[in-house]
Amino acid sequence: MPAAFTRRDFLNATLLASGSALLGGASPRELLALSRAAEFDGYGGVGDYAHANGNTWAVMNEGHRIRDHAGDRVAARDVADAGTFDLVVVGGGISGLAAALFFTRDTAGRRSCLVLEDHDVFGGLARRNDFDVDGQHVVAAQASAMFFPPLPGTLLADFYPSIGIAAETFEYQRWTGPTRELPVGNTPYFEGGPTSAWYFGPSFGVPPGRLVVDPMGTKLAAAPIDDQARRELLGMSSAPKRALPKEHGDAESRRLDSITLEQDLMDRFALSRETVRRFLSPVAGGGSGIGADALSAYADYAADVLLPWQYDKGAQMMPGGNAGVARHIAKTLIPDVIPGPPTLENVSRGHVRHDALDRTGQPARIRTGGTVFSVAHNGRPESADAVDVVYSRRGKLHRVRARAVVVAGGSWTARHIVKDLPASHQEAYAQFYRSPCLVASVAVRNWRFLYDHGIHECRWFEGIGSYVAITRVASFGPVSPTISPDTPVVLTLKILFSYPGEPLAAQVARGRAELLSTSYREYERRITEQLTAMFAPRFDARRDMAGLILNRWGHAYLSAQPGFFFGTGGRPGPGEVLRQSPVGRVAFANSDLTGIMDHRASILEARRAVSQVLERYR
Ligand SMILES: Cc1cc2nc3c(=O)[nH]c(=O)nc-3n(C[C@H](O)[C@H](O)[C@H](O)COP(=O)(O)OP(=O)(O)OC[C@H]3O[C@@H](n4cnc5c(N)ncnc54)[C@H](O)[C@@H]3O)c2cc1C
Repeated sequence: MPAAFTRRDFLNATLLASGSALLGGASPRELLALSRAAEFDGYGGVGDYAHANGNTWAVMNEGHRIRDHAGDRVAARDVADAGTFDLVVVGGGISGLAAALFFTRDTAGRRSCLVLEDHDVFGGLARRNDFDVDGQHVVAAQASAMFFPPLPGTLLADFYPSIGIAAETFEYQRWTGPTRELPVGNTPYFEGGPTSAWYFGPSFGVPPGRLVVDPMGTKLAAAPIDDQARRELLGMSSAPKRALPKEHGDAESRRLDSITLEQDLMDRFALSRETVRRFLSPVAGGGSGIGADALSAYADYAADVLLPWQYDKGAQMMPGGNAGVARHIAKTLIPDVIPGPPTLENVSRGHVRHDALDRTGQPARIRTGGTVFSVAHNGRPESADAVDVVYSRRGKLHRVRARAVVVAGGSWTARHIVKDLPASHQEAYAQFYRSPCLVASVAVRNWRFLYDHGIHECRWFEGIGSYVAITRVASFGPVSPTISPDTPVVLTLKILFSYPGEPLAAQVARGRAELLSTSYREYERRITEQLTAMFAPRFDARRDMAGLILNRWGHAYLSAQPGFFFGTGGRPGPGEVLRQSPVGRVAFANSDLTGIMDHRASILEARRAVSQVLERYR
């Protein structure tokens, strides 16, 4: 176990919290809740997101109260009146923030808008982790990371500069020091190539395990796998490239949506099922987080068909990932949320002013720490003149009245909170499965243990997690503009939960139960052991690890099953039902409606949803 700045800070934070609770006269029950929260959340880092790493204990419990319909049993007199707004947006992720911005712009700031977000900070999956390692600042994305230079002439090409993201590509940390430069990617996604490794653990019969550097370049010669698996894996790079479907909805895209991704991988690359499950699941399927056997094959193509970008410029990443996009939208909505001009540097380095988020009189307000329990028209949806939105905040229930609502919080709460959903929409939401994911940010004092192997990333096939990578961070943020093997960095570990062979609902439920029932300490132990197994003796956890933040996402990825995109049995896909048909004064947003886990979908869905409510109720 690392000596731990993490551990010390974590324990101190717990003691401090318990201490102040004692001073404040907290009951034993409250104290117990506090310590359970600390065991779950663990260390949160420093800065704006120190109390908002992933889905926190408090947010998760409020979420489960929604699921259990706790709000339905509350008497009207116990709900405080919190005023009236022209638009209420549920969810302060990129989609909810973008909805508020589109609305404010479309109505020239003359209409009022309130965003209700359950976490302590806006951003949703687009938040970041900040560490102070021996006086040096390092950052990582909590989840949403990659930014894609938009095609000229698209809505996104206008949108980003309009919120102060004035560049399509960024400058990244420069190499420094006497060591030979090693190429390091600028996103935490596993890229493959000469500076990658695959680690084969004990189940491959080579205890304690074997690290194979540049596995493909060395033709897997040192990999302890059988000839068939070797042949299949090597054959993947020479398989003819599959042409993308020409457009969304053509015969090929529909064919892909009718089969599983596992089937498509087997057909396309002549792979056996066993090879897919052992080596490609759950990483295949990009942002879907679950076994390829449960996913629609089209999930692997949809983003490129619907959201092409300037591929030649390469994927980009702001410091801490798309937290940057969320911060820029928030700053455009409420200029003094982050003081100073809306430049990339300033928005990345400045601090969120919580007192600016929710002031009376400003056209757009963001209320954090508020979980929406109920969204209900004050009459029949077609004829009602308002919608009542009930939310809990700091232990109390409040009601705001809205002329219209955009529900941008995601399918897992939307299906419970919108009270007047017709059967068509209930059926649609029942077809949404969001799989869990744990993103672990491990701050290390140096990364010699990777550099000395000539690698910056590693994949593995057993134990905890699937891959780890370090990144070269965009230099306009709060980090040092230089990198070397002796400077602190963050390792981003992607931990997915896939159980190929089990039905989709079972895979999702089992993964979530595992994610939510495992303590911070236990994850710390397992992650430390995994890194030690792969990189010791060069890696010494006590010496090298400076901090660990767990970002638990109970409902991370929309895992689109076959039929998600174009429907089955002549019925439209579930996302289409929700996208095309607002219910009375309530329209729906969030990236999950498209089946594409991508912040660009969040923005575009927000644009559509706001147009829908304004067309009807301007
Ligand atoms: C691990 C991971 C990595 C990813 N990487 C990338 C990437 O590299 N690039 C990319 O473009 N996309 C990526 N994504 C996709 C990501 O979904 C989008 O980028 C985007 O951040 C989603 O924004 P959203 O607003 O649609 O949803 P969310 O970010 O989920 O926002 C919804 C918000 O509403 C809140 N909420 C829900 N219900 C309620 C309620 N009842 N009351 C109040 N608040 C509520 C939620 O807690 C959340 O904060 C990734 C996703 C995951 C899970």
